[in-house]
Amino acid sequence: MLRIDNLDVKGKRVLVRVDFNVPLSEGTVCDDTRIRAALPTIEYLRDGGARIILMSHLGRPKGEGHEQEYSLAPVARVLSRILGEQVILAPAPTGPEVEALGAALKEGEVLLLENLRFDPREKKNDGEFAAELAKLADVYVNDAFGAAHRAHASVEAVAHLLPAYAGFLLDLEVSTLAPLLGAPERPFVAILGGSKVSDKIKIIDALLDRVDALLIGGGMCFTFLKAQGYEIGKSLCEDEWQEKALKMLEKAQSRGVQLLLPVDIVAAAYFAEDAPTRILSIDEMDESMMGLDIGPATSELYARAIARAKTVLWNGPMGVFEMKPFEAGTKAVAKAVAALSDANTVVGGGDSVSALKTFGLENRIGFVSTGGGASMQLLEGTPLPGVEALSPKND
Ligand code: AMP
Repeated sequence: MLRIDNLDVKGKRVLVRVDFNVPLSEGTVCDDTRIRAALPTIEYLRDGGARIILMSHLGRPKGEGHEQEYSLAPVARVLSRILGEQVILAPAPTGPEVEALGAALKEGEVLLLENLRFDPREKKNDGEFAAELAKLADVYVNDAFGAAHRAHASVEAVAHLLPAYAGFLLDLEVSTLAPLLGAPERPFVAILGGSKVSDKIKIIDALLDRVDALLIGGGMCFTFLKAQGYEIGKSLCEDEWQEKALKMLEKAQSRGVQLLLPVDIVAAAYFAEDAPTRILSIDEMDESMMGLDIGPATSELYARAIARAKTVLWNGPMGVFEMKPFEAGTKAVAKAVAALSDANTVVGGGDSVSALKTFGLENRIGFVSTGGGASMQLLEGTPLPGVEALSPKND
């Protein structure tokens, strides 16, 4: 990938794919992390005198035109405030009016296209839509690591139509995560949680080739426990993945990887914030209970394994951390990772990042990825379309 600082941007119209898919509440941005993550690229272009055209998706609109609920207007307001000058919001992602706004841009000015997913052609990686986007600019920059695993028009197709560069965030994400595929310092400990085994099976498989220990928590641990013959009651389980879970346990054994599963859990009879909870060892579960967090003995076991690590990768909460009675396991893991002073610690996107923020620990992690899906796909060893498209050999 060629990074943006290999280019003289003065006067050029630069089309930048950013990931402004931020959480909104009642029309305001509740977390501006993703907007701030794109600032190094935006400021570099602004200082260099580029005419900047930003584009992003936001949420999951129907793809049938403008939907106010998914407008990027709140993002334009926040970005205007941060940059200290007005960001112009285009009325649509492409079209004659947008072209006129692009043509009128002065050096250093910023235009934000409206939500790319208002146009159904974005998710189809449509060549004509990509051509309409490319027409707006002289150069393309991808700085949307969080969307780099999607072969969408603004990520993939458009990169073949203009000289294409990586923004600073995309470059930083790839250059920080990719070495974990090589020979990271050992012990290498990975912690995986979240709801579904089916979502994580590829990364489990890939990590078993590389890690010294793999700690599993979250809803997905119950498919493993059931496959081993434990009663899991009403806990989350994907029965059709039990066989694959057993294969992963065998693989861990044959590779000499320590695969840790919970030894106790925080259980409740029903799923609610105020449900009475019990701490049960895994052989005490009965069919009336559901497991909603790893228990204290497991937290201790996992914290001890983490304490020995020189490289840590964490993705996915250990329990339903959004509810106080089920947050302790995720908190214990977050604290154990944050406590490492002499290790390379990487947290991959999504819920683990919001858990870190809830516990005020995000600044004590070596690297917090802005892309959950993209970081996992990269670490599975599956090429990211957004990164591949920037590779000069693809042009
Ligand atoms: P994912 O979207 O797959 O990364 O999963 C994240 C979600 O998994 C979070 O919203 C958690 O509340 C949920 N989760 C974690 N542990 C459990 C569990 N034991 N039972 C049900 N949901 C869980």
